[in-house]
Amino acid sequence: MKNMEIILSRHAGFCGGVNRAYNMIRKAAADSEVKKPIFVLGDLVHNKDVVENIGKLGVKKIEIPRKLEALFNNITEKIGTLVITAHGMGPKIYKLAKEKGVNLIDTTCPKVIRVQRLAKNFSESESSCQLIVIGDRGHKEVEGICEWANGKAIVAENKKDLKNIKLNSLEKIVVISQTTQDKKSVDKIFEFIKKKYDKVETVDTICMATQNRQNEARKLAKNSDAVIIVGSPTSANSARLWEISKKINPKSHFIERAEDIKKEWFKNCRKIGVTAGASSPDWVIKDVIKCLKNLKK
Ligand code: SF4
Repeated sequence: MKNMEIILSRHAGFCGGVNRAYNMIRKAAADSEVKKPIFVLGDLVHNKDVVENIGKLGVKKIEIPRKLEALFNNITEKIGTLVITAHGMGPKIYKLAKEKGVNLIDTTCPKVIRVQRLAKNFSESESSCQLIVIGDRGHKEVEGICEWANGKAIVAENKKDLKNIKLNSLEKIVVISQTTQDKKSVDKIFEFIKKKYDKVETVDTICMATQNRQNEARKLAKNSDAVIIVGSPTSANSARLWEISKKINPKSHFIERAEDIKKEWFKNCRKIGVTAGASSPDWVIKDVIKCLKNLKK
């Protein structure tokens, strides 16, 4: 393994949206004028290390109940400030926080806000339309987008799902997607629906950070003997990188941290590609690189 080359993707780790959210929370935790305790609605990002880090600053996680009202009724602790994560949420939380007099910090990524606005505008447009959201059912970002669409959006996870949805061919159909979907798969779905129906409008809502990571993952998978994808199993964008990579290179391994690396994965491998999802902090990526370098010794 002495001659093993390690290539780190040019686009790996925290994206602009996650970095912004992480910094906003750290700043709020240190600001004496921000009401404490601070609770984050769900995981700030799908990464245990990051969640632990902000926990050390006194920022706690609070689960989002099915009925959002229960959030304010069931908690025994007083809520000082609530944080909406970069994935965004529906309009209800803004209304409830205002009614209950709870301070809100909104770290929704501007790219997600764009999709929420599109969902709202299309659902309220005078000429009625059927709104399809391509995304992972139950994912926080997707649920938020659907709420902005006043519950009028239909979620399709893939082409097969879409084929089973009954659409009215006389009415306009609008298709958007979760920001972290696989660009190639979404483009294929756009093509399919445009061929099948006449009145279709598709809007590319996949963010550049996601596209860059996916394009680089494809290149790495083609040009490396093995690929390491760093990310949490609950992170949608990391899982997508792994799916993309393993289709091209069967020696693609999805790990959460350096300790998960197994030496036997790299038998007869000269080039090892490393990439990481948008929720993987740089200190975890550095540990992974260090661990791979140690294998060379
Ligand atoms: S992956 Fe894209 S949409 Fe999601 S937080 Fe990062 S920049 Fe924003």
